[in-house]
Amino acid sequence: MEFARRVQELPPYLFAEISRKIAAKRAQGIEVVSFGIGDPDLPTPPHIIAALQRAAEEPANHRYPETEGLPELRQAMADWYERRYGLSFDPAKEVLPLIGSKEGIGHVALCFIDPGDTALQPDPAYPVYAVGTMFACGHTYTLPLDEEGGWLPDLEAVPADVAHRARVLWLNYPNNPTGAVADREFFERAVAFARKYDIAVLHDLAYSDVTYDGYDAPSFMQAKGAREVGIEFSSLSKTYNMTGWRLGTAVGNAGMIDALMRVKSNLDSGIPQAIQQMGIAALRGPQDAVAEHNAVYQARRDRVVTAMRQIGLRCTPPRASLYVWAQIPAGETSIGFAGRLLDDTGVVVTPGIGYGEQGEGYVRLSLTTPDTAIDEGLRRLAAWRSEAAKA
Ligand SMILES: *Cc1c(COP(=O)(O)O)cnc(C)c1O
Repeated sequence: MEFARRVQELPPYLFAEISRKIAAKRAQGIEVVSFGIGDPDLPTPPHIIAALQRAAEEPANHRYPETEGLPELRQAMADWYERRYGLSFDPAKEVLPLIGSKEGIGHVALCFIDPGDTALQPDPAYPVYAVGTMFACGHTYTLPLDEEGGWLPDLEAVPADVAHRARVLWLNYPNNPTGAVADREFFERAVAFARKYDIAVLHDLAYSDVTYDGYDAPSFMQAKGAREVGIEFSSLSKTYNMTGWRLGTAVGNAGMIDALMRVKSNLDSGIPQAIQQMGIAALRGPQDAVAEHNAVYQARRDRVVTAMRQIGLRCTPPRASLYVWAQIPAGETSIGFAGRLLDDTGVVVTPGIGYGEQGEGYVRLSLTTPDTAIDEGLRRLAAWRSEAAKA
């Protein structure tokens, strides 16, 4: 049987590869400590689970949901934006619930990209932007990020002919995998760029509320003129430890939201309604858990940063996101380093090359590892360091 080129050309999903390696180690009886995938280890807060339990009993929730979601959920999402950012969105036209933001991020390419069209995206980046473009038969033009540039793309460096061809620009701050942040002024430059070349800006705000040291992550939609050129994807996954429940949000330009809604309504039938009720409970309920989780992550961040520096990896403590992005010593590839670390210590880190060529030379460590596993992982790294010092 012959599969379509889009399937044949699909790069192996990075985490699938890592999972396979971990399984192989475990089969050998080796206890693995994983700083790999970014998936909160702490449970969903109990009042959100209670909402699901109540909603599950309700026969109205046993039937097909609507793609556009319950009006109460769209209103709760709009109210969250109003409270969090002082922005008002029309819940009927400017807000769209998603089956996790990844779903919307993947599908939105179908709204903008015809075969041969160009999408601009940073490198390194969350892999779904490029895959969405590829599925729509478009091609990706990468904007190289580096530490000197604060992991922000230099939009002025995009050649004019490429910018004229481009249909979309992907951005993601706070950033996965680098932990970098952007300010409103950067977002305003992105709006100006989008206006000049008639490009849609797609901003991924998955880490809006995973922040440290009092940092407050701005929304792209706060930039002047953002609503004319873009939409923003946010997620309940990382904020409320809800990765397993699949709830995300798109807000912004009404025409763009409508296009995404039309694509989605032909592919999915929306979010199960009992889960939509969880979303309403999360967005409207007490928010204490958010700060509590961030305190846990921040303590882990500090320990992981210290440990990385002790084994000779340079890194800056991130002000947001769930990741420490650490520079490996020169002369080794990120896959080589991660493989050596796994073989020597049973500690899993993600090679930076998995996020793009510019990720080479770095590894990513997720802060979603339980504290006891972190204790064990850091103990092994310290032992590894003194081994190396003796050799
Ligand atoms: C986790 C993550 C997402 C996906 O979140 P879901 O809402 O769970 O689909 C999107 N973008 C980035 C950058 C992420 O790290």
